[in-house]
Amino acid sequence: MTRYSAFAILREAMRQHSGWPQAWPSPEPRARYDVVIVGAGGHGLATAYYLGRNHGITNVAVLDKGWLGGGNTGRNTTIIRSNYLQDPSAALYEKSRSLFEDLSQELNYNIMFSPRGVMMLAQTEHEKRGYLRTERANALQGVDTRFISPAEVKRRVPIINLAGPRYPVLGALWQARAGTARHDAVAWGYARACAAMGMHVIENCAVTGVESAGGNVSAVTTTRGTIGCDKLGIVVAGHSGRLADMAGFRLPIESVALQALVSEPIKPCMDVVVMANTVHGYMSQSDKGEMVIGGGADGYNNYTQRGSWHHIEETVRALCETFPMISRLKMLRQWGGIVDMTGDRSPILSKTPLGGCFINCGWGTGGFKATPGSGWAMAELMAKGSSPLTDAFSLARFREGRFVDESVAAGVAH
Ligand SMILES: Cc1cc2nc3c(=O)[nH]c(=O)nc-3n(C[C@H](O)[C@H](O)[C@H](O)COP(=O)(O)OP(=O)(O)OC[C@H]3O[C@@H](n4cnc5c(N)ncnc54)[C@H](O)[C@@H]3O)c2cc1C
Repeated sequence: MTRYSAFAILREAMRQHSGWPQAWPSPEPRARYDVVIVGAGGHGLATAYYLGRNHGITNVAVLDKGWLGGGNTGRNTTIIRSNYLQDPSAALYEKSRSLFEDLSQELNYNIMFSPRGVMMLAQTEHEKRGYLRTERANALQGVDTRFISPAEVKRRVPIINLAGPRYPVLGALWQARAGTARHDAVAWGYARACAAMGMHVIENCAVTGVESAGGNVSAVTTTRGTIGCDKLGIVVAGHSGRLADMAGFRLPIESVALQALVSEPIKPCMDVVVMANTVHGYMSQSDKGEMVIGGGADGYNNYTQRGSWHHIEETVRALCETFPMISRLKMLRQWGGIVDMTGDRSPILSKTPLGGCFINCGWGTGGFKATPGSGWAMAELMAKGSSPLTDAFSLARFREGRFVDESVAAGVAH
């Protein structure tokens, strides 16, 4: 693999960029791999990467029914934060956030991590009490957050309307080292690094069935033939229920559409991420100048990657209250992704009833931020059979009532 560097750019500039190799090849599937991962989103690719990097397992294929990162990985609003309430969540999300810090160097691929700070507005007394509690929980967990005053909110975000009209801003939970990254570059960087270790990243290869022998997974059937494997990782977000069905078990998740939209590009006006969870909308400004806007998930199950119109209206209305200047903006485009929601709004990283088959899902509306940490933890789980980062997130918790309740931190925010 050619290393990307200033020298390489200079060299290629001298020869009309004729020497760049393909970032990752498109190989034909082999008959068998040690590990097959279904889903070439960020989480599937990160799992494969850390299987190789941390555990020396490189006979791995990552299969995707579409193109790399074409699921939720390339559709999210890119917010990265780790200010969760429960200890197991804070451990996992903070591991992930810290891996983001030097992921560009690690992958030799610019993922444009921007630790610009994330601000979650408190707009009711109840919400303020909740964030004060999270601030204290985060202090015990080693996650650096603090509750800031309305005056500091205004100083950091001059375009904000503190007064309401419905809900005044009473302060905010502020995480300075939270931020954003370019989402599809995360998938591309991991894919390139996986290919460099000799792994196969195979696009346009839908898994249509899971075969087993003696209670263990033995192969997957795909649109490009049967592929044998000793271990299988199912990492398909909104399609997890369908894959679990193929593997013979059921999941306590629901698939719903979540959507986002972007405005026309404007001059820099806001250099942090602001989440207004009471009125329900959040916004950041992309490097191109577009305002990146997200809101809530559909209230009914579906597999359409569109989302419903009333959410756009509600979200824009909420943000016009919070940032009156955006009422003058034109919205450029809107899209949706299928997110996989658990009852406690925490993910599932777990062994399954089928031997050798593991599942990583349930990230709901907030899994982009977890991509490196999730891959790290899932790789450890698949390689060693357990991981301290995944213990609390097993499927068994739903039977045993050990929920990791993040419905405040993750149910409406991202
Ligand atoms: C609009 C929106 C905004 C969001 N905003 C944020 C945010 O700001 N911050 C945040 O942290 N998270 C956010 N999220 C959530 C985040 O995007 C997801 O949790 C995360 O990207 C999930 O990654 P993944 O790799 O698990 O899934 P995906 O990227 O969806 O990858 C799953 C892959 O599986 C493939 N697949 C499915 N079925 C099959 C099959 N049968 N065979 C082979 N392949 C298959 C799909 O093609 C897909 O590529 C948002 C999501 C959406 C939709």
